[in-house]
Amino acid sequence: MQVSRHWREFSSHYKLEGTKCNECGEIDFPPRDVCSNCGSTVTEKYELKGEGKLVSYTMVRSAPPQHEYDKPYPLAIIELEEGPQITAQLTDVSEDEIEIGMKLEMVVRKVGEQGDDGLILYAYKFRPKIE
Ligand code: ZN
Repeated sequence: MQVSRHWREFSSHYKLEGTKCNECGEIDFPPRDVCSNCGSTVTEKYELKGEGKLVSYTMVRSAPPQHEYDKPYPLAIIELEEGPQITAQLTDVSEDEIEIGMKLEMVVRKVGEQGDDGLILYAYKFRPKIE
């Protein structure tokens, strides 16, 4: 039962939730109260699919402490299928396999544990999409 409770909590935290404009249909991520395209304030929550393509990346070689288990790592700018761009870490790929324009999909990964109570930290990352 522990497992399903944790899963429910974490899946609600790590959806890619943006906003969709009801006037022009523009999708913004992260969510905005005001549409970035037409300035309308009539927006609603919108869940993005978590798929996109690689726009650019850099290898991060001195990582902040919470990433100490997996440095160096590629930090990428990804253009989501719905249009917005997102910055996220790439995973399951070696540096020489990374290609600009490659298709990516979001995965949620454990990034660390905090303290003696075993609080597990998750974050979203992107990996090459298998077609
Ligand atoms: Zn709009």
